[in-house]
Amino acid sequence: MSKVAFISLGCAKNLVNTEQMMALCRDAGHTLLGAPEGADVVVVNTCGFIDSAKEEAIDNILAMGELKKQGLVRKILVTGCLSQRYRNEIAESLPEVDGMLGTGSYGEIVPAIDELLHGGAPQRFGSIHAPIEELDRVITTPPYTAYLRIAEGCDNHCAFCVIPSLRGKYRSRQWENVLAEAEKLAASGVKEIIVIAQDITRYGTDNYGRRRLPELIHALCRMDFHWVRLHYLYPDEFDDELIDAIASEPKVLNYLDVPIQHCNDRILSAMNRRGDKAYLLALFRRLRARIPGLVLRTSIITGLPYEGEAEFEELCDFLREVKIERAGVFPYSPEEGTRAAQMENRVDEEEARRRAELLVDVQSRIMDEYNERMQGEVVEVLCEGFDAASMGFVGRSYAESVDIDGKIYFSAERDCAAGEFVRVRITGVMDGELTGEAVEEDET
Ligand code: SF4
Repeated sequence: MSKVAFISLGCAKNLVNTEQMMALCRDAGHTLLGAPEGADVVVVNTCGFIDSAKEEAIDNILAMGELKKQGLVRKILVTGCLSQRYRNEIAESLPEVDGMLGTGSYGEIVPAIDELLHGGAPQRFGSIHAPIEELDRVITTPPYTAYLRIAEGCDNHCAFCVIPSLRGKYRSRQWENVLAEAEKLAASGVKEIIVIAQDITRYGTDNYGRRRLPELIHALCRMDFHWVRLHYLYPDEFDDELIDAIASEPKVLNYLDVPIQHCNDRILSAMNRRGDKAYLLALFRRLRARIPGLVLRTSIITGLPYEGEAEFEELCDFLREVKIERAGVFPYSPEEGTRAAQMENRVDEEEARRRAELLVDVQSRIMDEYNERMQGEVVEVLCEGFDAASMGFVGRSYAESVDIDGKIYFSAERDCAAGEFVRVRITGVMDGELTGEAVEEDET
């Protein structure tokens, strides 16, 4: 058997694919390495949906190419969205790549590695619409946190997005498989379960003919998790049943990730997004009314077709009004193969980037207001360990998700273990991140 290393790029959904490939290799008897040096095969599981992600993937492949020249890596296998989208271009322009798997062939990692090590050049591109393979995982997140991917693909077909053409049609996992995996994660000591998919609100509509996310939320809350975190909630799929499920379950964090991309009616319609500005405003008002202390996260694209100065100002005003606490802001990059890329009426990428920077400024002022509001509050923090730089502990409250939000740095009279929930009084801000001190159970 061989030594295999993995590099996982892109979103949390792609990380789950990496974890599945790692488990297949482990079960086949391969040795999993924590770093590429010394690997017989390095698998670069790529993202490829926007320019910056493509650049990162190519940089990683070239870096592995350098290691290969130095004899520190034998073979390079590229998997995921970049190979799914650009298999021919990769074959032509990246000779260091020895093999490729598409997003419909993660399950073929072991025979692909075998073929590689016997001098072959595997090119496996199964159907991206194929039924979901239920595969085990090597959890790569800390033992107290894990992602639970409940579906694959997307049917929303936003005009600017290539994901449906890379990940296929929306396919929910079978209910019993999702619950079985969740039970296993809870039994393994996971305390924070993060529910993900391209769009979790659609869960069950394809294979059960109805939305089952509210039921799933209640089911996860009956398990031994401490926190249930929800990501990728499509705005117009919120109904009372879903809001009730979120508001009524104490384990469900008052932190909701609701990507809106924009707020202008004409742009939303041109981008094939359902719901208009009035709907979004009403939705966020409803959510804030029903869920106390709600922290909202969203994704926004600047420079989309039909976005003039007025529409951009409208977007800034919308953020100032709704005060969304967390936002990923992306300058629009026209992706070949999308309808939006055919649309003429748009600013150049430099202007899209300039607007993204301006929007980040607007956002940072909203975050400053939030940090100010948190002063003196006592929050429950999931400790992630000791932080040498601040000579204290670091962690996250309900308002900070993994990898995409900031941290909370806190001092404590006693040692705090990674994975422990600690009550922390917020006492300050450091570089935009909250700081505090641990307080005992009975202190308020
Ligand atoms: S919801 Fe829209 S932006 Fe998100 S993955 Fe689906 S098509 Fe892409």
